[in-house]
Amino acid sequence: MSDDDVKSADSSGNKIQKMQTPNGIHDILPKDHEFFTFIKKVARHRFRQAGFRRITTPVIEHTEVFQRGVGEDTDIVSKEMYTFEDRSGRSLTLKPEGTAGAVRAYIQHGMKEWPQPVELYYIEPHFRYDRPQKGRYRMFWQIGAEIIGESDPALDVQCIFIAYKMFKDLGIDKRISLQINNIGSQKSREKYREALLNYYSGKERSLCDDCRRRLSSNPLRLLDCKVEDCQILARLAPQFADYRTPEDQAFHDLVKSFLDELGIVYTENPQLVRGLDYYTQTVFEFWDSEVGSQNAVGGGGRYDGLVELMGGSETPAVGFALGIERLINQMKAANVNVPSKDEVHVFVAQLGDEAKKKCLRIIDNLREAGIRTVGALGKGSMKAQLRLADKFQVPYCLILGATEVRDGVILVRDMAKGQQHPVPMTEIVPEMIRLLGEDKLDRYSPGEIFN
Ligand code: AMP
Repeated sequence: MSDDDVKSADSSGNKIQKMQTPNGIHDILPKDHEFFTFIKKVARHRFRQAGFRRITTPVIEHTEVFQRGVGEDTDIVSKEMYTFEDRSGRSLTLKPEGTAGAVRAYIQHGMKEWPQPVELYYIEPHFRYDRPQKGRYRMFWQIGAEIIGESDPALDVQCIFIAYKMFKDLGIDKRISLQINNIGSQKSREKYREALLNYYSGKERSLCDDCRRRLSSNPLRLLDCKVEDCQILARLAPQFADYRTPEDQAFHDLVKSFLDELGIVYTENPQLVRGLDYYTQTVFEFWDSEVGSQNAVGGGGRYDGLVELMGGSETPAVGFALGIERLINQMKAANVNVPSKDEVHVFVAQLGDEAKKKCLRIIDNLREAGIRTVGALGKGSMKAQLRLADKFQVPYCLILGATEVRDGVILVRDMAKGQQHPVPMTEIVPEMIRLLGEDKLDRYSPGEIFN
């Protein structure tokens, strides 16, 4: 422990360790929340526009949901889950991804009786015990969507299109490259699996440890391993395109023609398989066009077998997820300035009990008129309060002392010019609206429909 880790001592003189977030887990501070809020707004708007409804599944689920839904052999389940026992010995897991929980909810709540397909979206934190590095955290946020209950290539393209609309709204569409592949149905993959096993037979020693393990459990995963030697072998491996059934190929061709119709540029990537067991047919990822597969911004695909695998009836589905932290990194790299509603318009400084009493009503009147107002309602001197107003970088400060209370006025100080003038208390709201401008007011007030 370094000196830096030790903050203070308790009453018995024992050193107290400085409290910190766990490794790979971060606070979201107000500055980043400006990005978060904007991204969530964009997502909610695009999903609502397309008829999706929001779902929140719990942060913890029974471990089987992910073992079954994501697959025992995947990296997520075999190495990355936060799993623990509750007090009655039941194994629970912090959700590492969103689809398995959404499918569990679809089955549990009988959503197959709803009009199909059911279109759901979520904005949620997820947890994976992965090695932390830039863009890879142990708690991260995803925007995800699932279309459950119908199989049509147009729905796969719908997912991709909504994601693209969001990239455009966020000012990062030029930075993103869409990679697509079709990995067929579970059944058509059997022959291909055999071909892969044949190809890799005798080459085991050139593979990384993970790939050697995956060879027997999920050989498709060898194709998207990031280790260089494995990549070289993967490039020469048999390609699934040669094993696609005519139905798979027709599905894939339709996906591509719909993307063309919408003017969405894509790269066909025969190595793309995605890390999870449940995918069938279409898989896609959104890459940083310069960096490639490292730190993908999002991904998704069709998972026609998952609902059945999790105990429901045979139900096709498709979905995608975007990582919010990675979207923010993209926006920062693109120098996107997010509109922020956090700037304060007016700071109210007061001195004396009478002034404070008057301030309470004035502050409320200003806020109700759409003026973002902070009141220094503590005991600081006038000088200290004005210094604080400076730190808030407000354009105007209102000053109210005993003299002003007696005269029924407020001093309005223009902070940039350093000039002030008295305004009758009864006139303060219209005067501030005039000074700030109607267009600057914050009149969003969702609760007022009930008043
Ligand atoms: P996946 O389900 O692994 O394809 O993840 C979908 C998206 O979530 C990725 O493309 C990333 O944007 C994001 N994501 C996944 N894992 C992490 C992580 N450990 N840290 C930050 N973002 C992540």
